[in-house]
This record gives sequence, C-alpha cells and structure tokens, in this order.
Amino acid sequence: DNQKKRPIILGNWKMNKSLKEGVQYARSLKAAIAGKTWIMCGICPPYVFLKDICAILEGSTICVSAQNMHSEASGAFTGEIAAPMLKEVGCSHVLVGHSERRHIFGEDDFFINDKIKKAISFELVPILCIGETLEEREAGNTKDIVLRQLKNGLRGVGIELIKCIIIAYEPVWAIGTGRTASPEQANEVHSFIRTILSEDYGKDIAKKLSIIYGGSVKADNTEALIHQPEIDGLLVGGASLELESFLTIIEVVQ
Ligand code: PGA
Repeated sequence: DNQKKRPIILGNWKMNKSLKEGVQYARSLKAAIAGKTWIMCGICPPYVFLKDICAILEGSTICVSAQNMHSEASGAFTGEIAAPMLKEVGCSHVLVGHSERRHIFGEDDFFINDKIKKAISFELVPILCIGETLEEREAGNTKDIVLRQLKNGLRGVGIELIKCIIIAYEPVWAIGTGRTASPEQANEVHSFIRTILSEDYGKDIAKKLSIIYGGSVKADNTEALIHQPEIDGLLVGGASLELESFLTIIEVVQ
C-alpha cells in the first residue's frame, strides 16, 4: 500500500529553558501548528515543566513527551519519576534509552527494556533511542550495536505491543556535534533496523512502524534526511530550542 505515514518531528529540549520560556514556546508553537495535520509534532520538555505545558497543549495535535522515566511504577527511588506520574500530568510519549542516559548515566539495555514495557503498560508511547558511538562505527560495529540495542530493548515486546513503539536511530557521534550522518548513512541503518523488525514482527508491521532519525538535525539538512525512504521523522535537539528554527524544520518537512 502507498499510504504515507505522517512524519514525526520531535523537539528534545534536554536540560534547557526556564519554565517561563518553555510555556511561551508551547503557546507560540500551538498557534503556529494549528491546522497542520500532515505532521505529528511533539516536544520533550524537562520533567518540572510537563504539567504546565501539557495544560497549554491540551486539545492541540502537539504531543508532549518526557525525556526519561524509571522502570518501576512507584517506590523508594529518590529523585526518579514513574510512568503513571507522566501519564497523570498529560504526557503521551516518553524517550527511553537516549544516548545521554546510556552514556552519561550508565543505563543499560536491561533497564531500558524494563522502562519500555512499563511505559506501554501505562499507555505511554515509548521512543526507543538506539545508536552507535564513533568508536563503534569506526571499528565497523554499527550493525552489531544497533542489533543488540534493538533486540535487548524490545525483549518481551510481542506483536501486539510493538505497534505502540517508535524507534529513534541516533548515532552518538552525530548528537550535538554538528556532524550529521549523511542521509544515505542514516537511511542504511534505518533500513537495517526495519529488516530486523520484519524478521521479528513480520513485514507489514515493520513497514508501519516509525523509525525516526536524530543527531544534528538542522533546517538545512532536514529536506535530504526526510526524503530518504526509511526515515519517518526527526528527533531534533539543539535546533529545536529556538522556536523559529524548529518551525523552519517543520515547514521543510511539509
Ligand atoms: P542534537 O540532539 O539535535 O542537538 O544533535 C539530538 C538528540 O540528542 O536527540
């Protein structure tokens, strides 16, 4: 079938902005996006802004995603945030296994897999982030790493639940470095990911799943990336911080 998936454009603010700035951004984004039904647009604000921003974006088509969560639903985990809390304040999505969580905070595939399953059980759409480091790419291990992170991340996720997941391929060497994967390099890994998903879940399901790319996405490389056949959307960090530049990316995608 030639039914085109709605491209996903997500802005990951990471640990940036004040509450005041975040709220202002959300209001302006809502106004700017109104009626643009051909894309699925979302933002990932810091935890403490989520409730206010969800309230502003309620009734709009813009999704709110948390940047992380814990794998347990409650308990003695000082400083952590659980899936039902995110759900309660109005989030629909959550990033899981972002490379900064893996590499700065030491999260492993097993913890990430538990988070994926927990997110789904609370009806949050997990965005499973995977990607190799520069060292791993240069050693020729890109596919091994992506395969391992994908298989381990999705362990125990059956055919019914896989439909609730978004995969984000984010090569670590391209994140925040200004060094984007070339559109062809990204597409090649996306295609590999889809092949693995086809083997595990069947061709039809794999085709419908969204695999988005992240790593130094900017307005001037958006067009080439989004036109790749296997790239279904973009996860934008730095270039999502200024609303104008995020909106330019959205304009290019339409
Ligand atoms: P970047 O970040 O666009 O600043 O490279 C992307 C991400 O980490 O999601």
